[in-house]
Amino acid sequence: MLDCHCHLLDTGVPAAVFFDSLSGCHVTKLYCNTTGASQWSALTAAAAHYPQIIPFYGIHPWHIRPAMAAADLQLLAALLEDDHCFCGEIGLDRLCATDFSLQEELFIRQLDIAMGTKSFVAIHCVKAWGRVLEILASYQGKINFMIHGFHGSREVMERLVAMGGMISFSNRVTQPSRQRLQDVLRVTPLENLLLETDFPVHKGDKGDKGPGLKKYCQIITPLYLFVSRLRHVPLAELVQIIDRNGSLSTY
Ligand SMILES: [Zn+2]
Repeated sequence: MLDCHCHLLDTGVPAAVFFDSLSGCHVTKLYCNTTGASQWSALTAAAAHYPQIIPFYGIHPWHIRPAMAAADLQLLAALLEDDHCFCGEIGLDRLCATDFSLQEELFIRQLDIAMGTKSFVAIHCVKAWGRVLEILASYQGKINFMIHGFHGSREVMERLVAMGGMISFSNRVTQPSRQRLQDVLRVTPLENLLLETDFPVHKGDKGDKGPGLKKYCQIITPLYLFVSRLRHVPLAELVQIIDRNGSLSTY
């Protein structure tokens, strides 16, 4: 199985401990995202050891450091010169404290870098679909991207798909209260579909004590099973589809 969005460096344990915990589920590759420059060298070191890691470098809207932005962007551009490195996670978030125009500036500058280095991009969007769609339209045909943890409407999904975007669903879609999102998943073209854990998105997922790492397999396996049932696609076939979709973007 491919996990199209997680945060290895936020698990609170060394990569070796994390990868040991994956023996309970068959995860072959993970898109490991970062939220700022302070995580980039650790990700590079981990990716050199673990071929399962697909590294994503980016400045998340929650973690913008205005005074460091110029230096961070320069470093990002250098990292993304490598064909095996990708851009994420970046985006816009109306619920975070960071000034929105600063978020927009960093989002656009990172998209410019991704366009220049032909890097696939992982995008975060909270309550800012109008602006994200507007900005992405100006890059149409110039960047390849995925929306991570998609929770928008069918109309937004269709507009993103029309731009060639990949739509990634997290296990949030399995919750009984998410009927509307399940309806969107039902009609998302299979060739644009990705699946992700967003691990460790919940506080209880962090650290090696308690449910923590054990929970990883309890997120990814049920998610794939749920989507397999919802889309009437056998699990083995779904695993292949997601793997192929991911391969086209990043391998
Ligand atoms: Zn994330």
